[in-house]
Amino acid sequence: MIFHEHYTGINEKHGPTEVTEARKSLDKILEWQGDGIVEIKIGSSVVELTQGDITQQDTEAIVNAANRTLLGGGGVDGAIHRAAGPELLAECRTLGGCDTGDAVVTRGYRLKAKYVIHTVGPVYRGPDPSTERLLESAYRRSLEVALAKEIRSVAFPAISTGAYGYPLGEAASVALHTVVDFLQAHPEIKLVRFVLFDQRALEAFEKAPEGLIPAGS
Ligand code: ADP
Repeated sequence: MIFHEHYTGINEKHGPTEVTEARKSLDKILEWQGDGIVEIKIGSSVVELTQGDITQQDTEAIVNAANRTLLGGGGVDGAIHRAAGPELLAECRTLGGCDTGDAVVTRGYRLKAKYVIHTVGPVYRGPDPSTERLLESAYRRSLEVALAKEIRSVAFPAISTGAYGYPLGEAASVALHTVVDFLQAHPEIKLVRFVLFDQRALEAFEKAPEGLIPAGS
């Protein structure tokens, strides 16, 4: 069931009254699916929020919150390399790294996902518009890389919210706004699933759509 097919996208200038209206419309935006899955319909595409392990996802691609060397690390990066097997690191070695805010694609090897899109989020050192732009860019470039490969379903972790220290609430808002804007312009991507590792991250993402004001509400 589709609650809203059109969104105004990010409304950065909403005042207190509109925020209240946005909160009222939250229940209309989020569709609670049971099994802990929350769906947001964007035209013919879907954004899902779920708690889980990204290495287990059956989307065509999963996104890795990598570092600039692409040579493996801790957190979600370590988990993806362990699950994909050593062939993933071998392919990553051929790529020569990745800039912050950019993304590159490899095969998924032993994962269910056919591809891994490796992106590098910014390290958080306090509120800064350029840091926010780099986080937006990490999500947008990941989806551009997916489009170029004709990938139709992508699972993201909460980029930069672990070792890189980005506050969850702010990161969730940037993530969701960037993905929703992208899907409005590129309906070829049918599913974006945010796979949040713990309850706290899931709750931050469930609150983030408050800034997405449905048109005409
Ligand atoms: P970054 O360096 O970009 O902060 P981290 O891997 O340290 O990357 O953390 C990013 C997010 O990924 C954190 O919210 C962390 O809890 C989460 N995470 C860690 N392991 C997994 C996993 N297997 N699946 C999904 N998310 C994970």
